[in-house]
Amino acid sequence: MPPAAGEGPRESKMSEYDVVVVGAGNAALAAAVSARENGAEKVLVLEKAPRSMRGGNTHWSGAVLRFAFDDPREIAPLVPDAEEKYEDFYAGIEPYTREDYHADLMRVTNGRTDPVLSRILVDNSKDTVFWMNRTGGIRMEPATTLSAVRKGNRLVWARGLVIRAEHEGVGLSRSWFATAERMGIEVRYSSAATALLQDNTGRVCGVRVRDDEGVREISGGAVVLGCGGFEANVQMRTQHIGPLVGAAKVRGTPYNQGDGLRMALAIHAMPWGQWSGCHATPISADWGDFAPRELTDRSNRLSYPYGIMLNRAGRRFVDEGEDGALFTYAKFGRAILAQPGAKVWQIFDSKVLHLLEPRYSTSKPIVADTIEELISQLDIEDKKQAVATVAAYNAAARAPEEGFDPARRDGLSTKGLDPEKTNWALRLDTPPFHAYSATGGITFTFGGLRVSERAEVIATDWRPIPGLYACGEMIGGLFYDNYPAGTGLVAGATFGRIAGREAAAAAAARRA
Ligand SMILES: Cc1cc2nc3c(=O)[nH]c(=O)nc-3n(C[C@H](O)[C@H](O)[C@H](O)COP(=O)(O)OP(=O)(O)OC[C@H]3O[C@@H](n4cnc5c(N)ncnc54)[C@H](O)[C@@H]3O)c2cc1C
Repeated sequence: MPPAAGEGPRESKMSEYDVVVVGAGNAALAAAVSARENGAEKVLVLEKAPRSMRGGNTHWSGAVLRFAFDDPREIAPLVPDAEEKYEDFYAGIEPYTREDYHADLMRVTNGRTDPVLSRILVDNSKDTVFWMNRTGGIRMEPATTLSAVRKGNRLVWARGLVIRAEHEGVGLSRSWFATAERMGIEVRYSSAATALLQDNTGRVCGVRVRDDEGVREISGGAVVLGCGGFEANVQMRTQHIGPLVGAAKVRGTPYNQGDGLRMALAIHAMPWGQWSGCHATPISADWGDFAPRELTDRSNRLSYPYGIMLNRAGRRFVDEGEDGALFTYAKFGRAILAQPGAKVWQIFDSKVLHLLEPRYSTSKPIVADTIEELISQLDIEDKKQAVATVAAYNAAARAPEEGFDPARRDGLSTKGLDPEKTNWALRLDTPPFHAYSATGGITFTFGGLRVSERAEVIATDWRPIPGLYACGEMIGGLFYDNYPAGTGLVAGATFGRIAGREAAAAAAARRA
């Protein structure tokens, strides 16, 4: 067996590939396509999963894409028939400037998002989405079921979140693979990178791979790591984030086990960002430890702003109306995991049922005509407390006539509760009442590698590791504590595009 990284000197030789990309999700395939577009002739994509499970979390995603625009009509080329399909389409969309986007990132990360990387993400966001459409062959559509609320005949959109890939993550992933194939990019399935190879100058010159036939080495002019975080690895979750999240159900691919991070750390890459942080959302508690692939992201339970959440001690534990769900969902999953039994109940009355996201239909609610009857059917330990919590909430809550508006933070707040519900605090007074179970499901991890503006992986001596680039969930520093919906895929494609371009240039320079 030849020596792996760090085990001894290795001579530089002609590479089999210009660029080797590890992973086959959105970020990795953006990198592969960008490398080809920028002159790399031989590009190899290594996918650990078999073909039937290819595409990483990208396949599971809702594929909604947050990007900045000054005028809603700028998005028209992405969805040319939207005006025909939806009445007054553009009237329901507010501009979402780069400053708005950056302010949202700063707000939800408590001011900690990396100043350089976040600017690159925001400033390139619109161009990235147009590139995904134009070069990636990804067709787009309005994200009606996720980020629009109907007001009269018109849809009113959450700011910055109007567009998603057609057929969501399934369509996004399929389109990336089709484009890669069309561009002559080779994809090897069931091929897990297990180590990075370095030549005697320290340049990364290939990867060690485990496939159906055994272990082999593959050489490349440059290597791009786009193989996700450690969300599916129970040991790493427990070690870095803590035992509560260690026990979380996994919302996406079971293949993101932190391999790329471990490989990079083994050659002294610098860890960066919030290794103790993750994106974890309320999902149905009925689901197994790993979300079924065919149901993609339909485990989410995100309509809690229109109701309340009770833990098994019969108490509320967060301000369900702190903000729109798209700005709180990524942290409330973790809040649920901290509750007794890591399980809670979401309770709604009949006057808001029409506002529940369509994906609630993937589980059956418990229904009753009174709150007491409803609570008697739930596995809440302290049922008396639960009834008292709802009564206290109702005494402090409001009526729709007081200005209820599901399309914006309406300021309809309780007074005197701990925690308050600060928006959409409607009384639960219209039977029948519905209860849906929820637990916390981990989506992806926030900790990653330190990269430069050129997506070069930085070593613990603060210098780039020659020949090594990273993108997607593997980059640390963008997200802390929380995350604005629709940012992961745009960040992945933005840095994937940069990583591919830079890797192509590095490979060309090496050949010259
Ligand atoms: C249910 C769900 C819904 C989501 N909805 C949205 C949304 O609407 N909008 C949004 O922006 N984001 C969303 N996200 C987040 C988004 O999916 C991720 O941010 C994004 O897919 C990450 O892309 P990636 O390319 O970094 O990783 P992935 O897409 O996870 O790809 C990682 C790839 O690496 C491969 N791999 C892992 N280890 C190895 C190895 N050792 N060797 C070779 N290959 C390896 C995996 O098999 C996979 O192909 C959602 C996520 C989930 C789970």
